[in-house]
Amino acid sequence: MKKLVILGGGYGGMAIVRQLLERDLPPDTVIYLVDRMPYQGLKTEYYALAAGSAAEHRLHVAFPVHPHLILFFGEVTEISLKEKLVYLQDQDPISYDWLVIGLGCVDQYYGIPGAAEFTHSLQTLRAARKTYVALQEVRPYGHVTIIGGGLSGVEMASELRECRPDLHIRILDRGGGILAAFPEKLRLFVHEWFLEHDVEIRSQVELEDIRETEILEGGKVLRSEATVWAGGIQPAHPVKALEVNKDEAGRIRLDSFHRIPQFPEVFVVGDCASLVFSPSAQAAIIQGKQIATVVRAIWDGVTPNISPLRLRGTLGSLGKKNGFALMGDSTVVVGKVPRTLKSGVLWKSRHHFG
Ligand SMILES: Cc1cc2nc3c(=O)[nH]c(=O)nc-3n(C[C@H](O)[C@H](O)[C@H](O)COP(=O)(O)OP(=O)(O)OC[C@H]3O[C@@H](n4cnc5c(N)ncnc54)[C@H](O)[C@@H]3O)c2cc1C
Repeated sequence: MKKLVILGGGYGGMAIVRQLLERDLPPDTVIYLVDRMPYQGLKTEYYALAAGSAAEHRLHVAFPVHPHLILFFGEVTEISLKEKLVYLQDQDPISYDWLVIGLGCVDQYYGIPGAAEFTHSLQTLRAARKTYVALQEVRPYGHVTIIGGGLSGVEMASELRECRPDLHIRILDRGGGILAAFPEKLRLFVHEWFLEHDVEIRSQVELEDIRETEILEGGKVLRSEATVWAGGIQPAHPVKALEVNKDEAGRIRLDSFHRIPQFPEVFVVGDCASLVFSPSAQAAIIQGKQIATVVRAIWDGVTPNISPLRLRGTLGSLGKKNGFALMGDSTVVVGKVPRTLKSGVLWKSRHHFG
């Protein structure tokens, strides 16, 4: 039997699995899906779990059941591209004929002292669960800091504001302000929302040290009973160890068919892949569908035909009633409509559409 091994059943990995299972597989081929979890976790909603507005089971999506799909649960520790083997913790290695690396990302702390030890993470379901407990245990009127004013930091701060109206919440961003990559109109709307909802925003911040209940910043000590890290990401650990061509963020550079050039039997999807866009679930899904098309073409013995990746836009939430959308490069929509659209996208993810 030939094996297509997919590491990671997240947005990218599942887009590949679902598209490939829409048609019969070659009779001598099986797909192995390897993940540490027994279901897909809807990572784009981990901030809601951490804030306390989403029950965890709402963020689980069952893996498909199919005679040609073998689910394999375990922790990937190492990938040997030369031996064509995937090493797992306390389990035998898995060999492959074709491999997809879709292990997502972990936090990147940029060497800031105390960040790894004393901040709470949103990057795994387990971490988001722990972050929820830490945030709920902050005393009434205590201080919470979100590090990072990108999409996940903004969504985390706004959701927490609605769940814990008593808290002093601040966002610290080392750049020029929240959602720096977005158009001015959108940023102003989000800024206003935070102003109205009493969330402090500080930009151009130089973090010196993060401790259990305080942060040292620009010579000042800020009280912070819980600090959430949304300040940077890097590819998952097994990818960090791979000696292949990578971009400055550590993501693997690929050929036009999403393969590692020296190892054309290996594809990389989502947050581990060097794409022209910032990492996102949408990019992982669109790229995953193209990888499925390429794999299918290889199986059919034809030349793959794919066009450059194109994103539809970005949706973000500000609590349960407000949101923002960027369509194309510059069309901005704010308010209830984008929030409803975002809920619709979540509904589709749960029900395997789109
Ligand atoms: C709080 C938050 C909000 C976000 N909001 C948005 C948003 O609104 N829109 C958007 O487009 N994107 C958003 N993102 C980004 C988005 O979630 C990621 O870009 C997306 O999940 C990447 O998909 P992926 O398939 O590469 O990885 P993932 O979806 O993270 O999947 C990786 C899979 O690999 C598994 N895995 C990882 N390491 C191992 C290992 N060593 N062994 C075994 N299994 C392993 C994990 O369990 C997981 O199932 C958000 C991210 C966060 C944290």
